[in-house]
Amino acid sequence: MNSQTGKVMVVGGGIAGLTAAWELARQNIGVELVEKSCFLGGHSIGYTCKATDMCQKCGACSVEKMLKDVVGEPLINVHLRTEVDALDRSKGYRVTLKKSAQDQAAGKVLKGFSRHNSPLYVVGENVTEAVPEGAMKIQEMGSECALDVDAVILATGFTPFDASIKGTYGYGKWENVITGLEFEHIERENAGIVRPSDGLPPKRVAFIQCVGSRDERLGHLWCSEVCCAYGLRMAGTIRHQDPEAEVSVFYIDVQNVGKEFPVFYERIKENVRFVRTIPVDIYPVENDCLKLRHMAEDQGTPTFEEFDLVVLSIGIMPGADSKLISETFGVPMTVDGFLDDSVGDGIFVAGTAAGPGTIAASMAKAGKAAFDAAKYVGGAK
Ligand SMILES: Cc1cc2nc3c(=O)[nH]c(=O)nc-3n(C[C@H](O)[C@H](O)[C@H](O)COP(=O)(O)OP(=O)(O)OC[C@H]3O[C@@H](n4cnc5c(N)ncnc54)[C@H](O)[C@@H]3O)c2cc1C
Ligand code: SF4
Ligand code: SF4
Repeated sequence: MNSQTGKVMVVGGGIAGLTAAWELARQNIGVELVEKSCFLGGHSIGYTCKATDMCQKCGACSVEKMLKDVVGEPLINVHLRTEVDALDRSKGYRVTLKKSAQDQAAGKVLKGFSRHNSPLYVVGENVTEAVPEGAMKIQEMGSECALDVDAVILATGFTPFDASIKGTYGYGKWENVITGLEFEHIERENAGIVRPSDGLPPKRVAFIQCVGSRDERLGHLWCSEVCCAYGLRMAGTIRHQDPEAEVSVFYIDVQNVGKEFPVFYERIKENVRFVRTIPVDIYPVENDCLKLRHMAEDQGTPTFEEFDLVVLSIGIMPGADSKLISETFGVPMTVDGFLDDSVGDGIFVAGTAAGPGTIAASMAKAGKAAFDAAKYVGGAK
């Protein structure tokens, strides 16, 4: 094997960071992978497989696959529960690391896995249970040291929209109003969707699209790009679980993502009712059910409908650390608050840190960032 060509620090161990690390290692470049939480895989490692009688192309299994590829790769050093404290550019890139304040609770959602998901290869509360012995080269949890590297890739991801900001939907007040992210976790833990209030499968489910995105009042004008597809896939899994269940999707319009989406959309339309309006508010009614008030497009008067479960399709917001990362690494931010990925000079941005995108899009951006970083340190083949 050739000797190692340079070293790159990858900040963030979600699918974008993992992909970048893996692509760099394949170019024989050493990687210091710094992850703030106590597990690798980011948001999408907690997603469930949405296969019905066929694969729904959600991409969740590509995260597990990439994690397994990264595990055991000798050129990748993993620093869990660690974040960057400072960057000194006077001699290349000297990065000081510190222990992050994140506790281990984040690992909890990763314990369950649905009938289609393989066991998780992630580090949660119990490292020895989650990772086969000796399979992953992990530095001590919470590294505190200074490392000299030749380039940096920032893959610090996104923050899911905080649905409690949309006060009229009662998120956080009514138990059976959940977010898309909670849907993922509930389905993963229970191998099917159940209501939080009583653990029973819901018969009448509403999805509300564009929650937190395309919202002028919040100043979030961007489309989050992923929630049409994930919302409709979830709708499909409910109908697959219970063909008698009634599923309604309240939407503005449908974002066409990827070449397979039109076929999927045509299929889902046969099983799901689409209502072209965004509900105004949600009230609790008997049996922990919920009443939605909306103005249907073709009606001038308000319409009230009852549901057992309401799923808010929350969008992708800038990462919680965007501002800090921007200041530490001297990377400008876009008007929306994401990191500008056109910086260059040895610093590259990958995945949703640069703006909304699917797992596949995040992997593609990470591949490009790794290629550019490899070229920068002189290792690109
Ligand atoms: C509800 C929901 C459902 C979705 N469903 C799908 C789907 O079915 N299919 C699909 O293709 N896409 C889906 N997406 C989009 C998908 O989640 C993203 O494309 C993907 O997670 C982006 O990966 P990432 O690595 O860029 O970011 P993240 O997953 O956010 O990972 C970022 C990582 O960086 C770490 N980090 C953050 N700050 C720091 C720091 N300062 N120092 C060190 N580490 C840090 C975080 O802890 C995290 O591990 C969905 C999104 C949402 C909100
Ligand atoms: S995780 Fe998603 S992409 Fe993978 S098999 Fe299941 S439905 Fe298909
Ligand atoms: S992807 Fe769909 S639900 Fe999400 S913000 Fe765009 S239009 Fe709205």
